[in-house]
Amino acid sequence: MLRIFICPKCFNYRIVSRKPDATCFHCGARLYKSDLDYVDYIEMSMAERLKYKEKFIERMKLIKDNMDNYYTEQEMKK
Ligand SMILES: [Zn+2]
Repeated sequence: MLRIFICPKCFNYRIVSRKPDATCFHCGARLYKSDLDYVDYIEMSMAERLKYKEKFIERMKLIKDNMDNYYTEQEMKK
């Protein structure tokens, strides 16, 4: 079963088989599992892949902002 992973740092795609923990070839960051199917991925055009990547980057930013807010709140409670 092949899975599509994506790097949260440099946003490169990587196709991974079986290994539960995948790291990025480019920067060594721990990869995020995308919700893409391998079959869907290979049928996607370059433009679609780019679009998906942009959505992923947006989601990553949201998560990061939420984390920052969370830590700020924790700081304020002290
Ligand atoms: Zn990377």
